[in-house]
Amino acid sequence: MSDDFHTIIEPFRIHSVEPLRMTTKEQRESAIQAAGYNLFNLHAQDVLIDLLTDSGTGAMSRDQWAAIQHGDESYAGSPSWFRFEAAVKELFPFRHVIPTHQGRAAEKILFSVLGGPGKVVANNTHFDTTRANVEATGAEARDLLIAEGHDPAVLHPFKGNMDLESLEELLSERRADVPVVFLTITNNSGGGQPVSLANMRAVSEICHRYGVPFFLDACRFAENAWFIHEREAGQSAREIPDIVREMASLADGMTMSAKKDPFGNIGGWLALNDDALAEQCRNLLILTEGFPTYGGLAGRDLEALAQGLSEAVHPDYLRYRIRSTAYVGEALDRAGVPVVKPIGGHAVYLDARALLSHLPALAYPGQSLAVALYQAGGVRSVEIGTVMFGRQPDGREVPAAMELVRLAIPRRTYTQSHMDYVIEVVTDVASRASSLPGYAMVYEPPALRHFTARFEPVA
Ligand SMILES: *Cc1c(COP(=O)(O)O)cnc(C)c1O
Repeated sequence: MSDDFHTIIEPFRIHSVEPLRMTTKEQRESAIQAAGYNLFNLHAQDVLIDLLTDSGTGAMSRDQWAAIQHGDESYAGSPSWFRFEAAVKELFPFRHVIPTHQGRAAEKILFSVLGGPGKVVANNTHFDTTRANVEATGAEARDLLIAEGHDPAVLHPFKGNMDLESLEELLSERRADVPVVFLTITNNSGGGQPVSLANMRAVSEICHRYGVPFFLDACRFAENAWFIHEREAGQSAREIPDIVREMASLADGMTMSAKKDPFGNIGGWLALNDDALAEQCRNLLILTEGFPTYGGLAGRDLEALAQGLSEAVHPDYLRYRIRSTAYVGEALDRAGVPVVKPIGGHAVYLDARALLSHLPALAYPGQSLAVALYQAGGVRSVEIGTVMFGRQPDGREVPAAMELVRLAIPRRTYTQSHMDYVIEVVTDVASRASSLPGYAMVYEPPALRHFTARFEPVA
């Protein structure tokens, strides 16, 4: 991008295209009704602009597709594995890299070893699968986000930071019950907000003073590093890989979904320094994911990820990525739509509590807004509020801290005109938000209910 002009241009051109299917409002209304008003149940063909998730939905580059042709499918010790391991260690020099088919498999393995009843895992904010995997072991998943992070309207450059006093208090009282402390970078469930290097250094210092391992949930490490580069004092002259390596150096390990920043359609890993813990994790890996040099992945997947990792930290790409997400959020903000501010890295989060203030939390205002965006314009988003987080391990249903609707932006997939269309749809729905109905949940599964729950509008 030239320094002299303001238009954000995609730092790539299109080499291969996928058709989008247009639908009518009537078709969408019957499709969402048949889906039980749950956007996860839609056929993707009935969606025009799919902002459900940025997970596994990015466009791979020419060089990633070329790398796929180099995939070596040897069961053990494939050259594709060694290329993948080297690419991971280039940015995250942990002693052990354990490949998995996606992020939650890494979480499941780690918490199976470290979790259990009576344990408390701390995080700035647990992502839904992370929370579910902690709680599935009987442990408690505790969120220790700074106060600013809970207020969608408050401006703060690093709203994903951990509350250091609460961490210190937890460790001084219950050190023996805390097997690991996590930082999620960027904080997906809290608005895609970054964590500062200063906060990571402080969390690392506190954890190590108490002898507790510190791990990163590093799905969006490159976007977080870009925010550090842009916003944190003294960081603007550093190369992105250098910032990433410092983040890794502060931690004892990481879990990773390679479906996020590394441009994978599938993939993940667990990386750590502790030899004994790594051995326990590898033993579990073999039970469910596969041999330690492929995990749940094909050789070609490992190749695509190795190449993707090098593209994820390129400054031209990251500048475009963060600016183009902010473009959507800033346009909505100017139009008076309440959004989480500042705009996060991978998504724009609409504040459904503010926009649908006529609906109580248990009428699921976020779900109502997400359904309306689909009905109006075929835009698929996801509720991140009481539907996702309201059910407690003890069976109670309580309002979530925030009622958000996330418009997650797949990497390198949509153009600026697609985003102009999204802005138009959201602005239209927001203008009649006070007439949108509440919803009742008519089917609820035992865990991770948002994926398969069914709803009905209430009059
Ligand atoms: C996506 C994600 C995960 C889980 O990864 P999957 O690949 O979807 O299993 C964990 N943590 C965060 C912050 C995520 O965004």
